[in-house]
Amino acid sequence: MKGSRVLIVEDEKKIAEIVKAYLEKEGFDVTVAGTGTKAISSLKDGFDLVILDLMLPDMSGEDICKTIRKDSDIPIIMLTAKNEEEDKIKGLGAGADDYVVKPFSPREVTARVKALLRRTGKKSLARFNNGDLVIDSEKFKVIKGGADIVLTPTEFKLLKCLAEHPEQVFSRLQLVNVILGYDYEGYDRTIDAHVKNIRHKIEDNQKNPSYIKTVHGVGYKFIGSIDED
Ligand code: CA
Repeated sequence: MKGSRVLIVEDEKKIAEIVKAYLEKEGFDVTVAGTGTKAISSLKDGFDLVILDLMLPDMSGEDICKTIRKDSDIPIIMLTAKNEEEDKIKGLGAGADDYVVKPFSPREVTARVKALLRRTGKKSLARFNNGDLVIDSEKFKVIKGGADIVLTPTEFKLLKCLAEHPEQVFSRLQLVNVILGYDYEGYDRTIDAHVKNIRHKIEDNQKNPSYIKTVHGVGYKFIGSIDED
């Protein structure tokens, strides 16, 4: 993963520079393009992942995404300005693999870049906190502190979804959608019960969790740090 080439497509210099600095600190090789035209011509140089802003001076991020998708399946993370379902759907509909909502922390973007590279690298094993937690999405297995953990299919789905989007806050309703495939109000409180069960199985200290953190008034997010290979 270290040395992977990342193209940031963003016209706001400040944002581009901060994200670039964080990714470089993690060993990534980063290039910034300020326009869509420049981005599309830069892609010929070969990159491993694209971070694409939705709002650019010459083209929309959505159109750039569609253009890239005509002949490339390079992983794309879309930056969206507001947490609106519509923006998210636009981005994913245009072929983005993931999205991050502004304002974001550079730490979140870095975590998502790593998670996406791992996912698209077809690696089914993800290790967290120096091997403390292992999620095997192919065998539906979870190992905690070297021991096999039995999760129900619902618990596994929830944990996998959270872990694939580190630092992203999910509302209870969004998580209901993850397990049922649709929003069903009234079911959202049972998410708490599932999270409680998962924590019981994977957390050393349930009051100070290392993996699933409660975001008060909103929902949950995954805070485990993914291991380098
Ligand atoms: Ca922009």
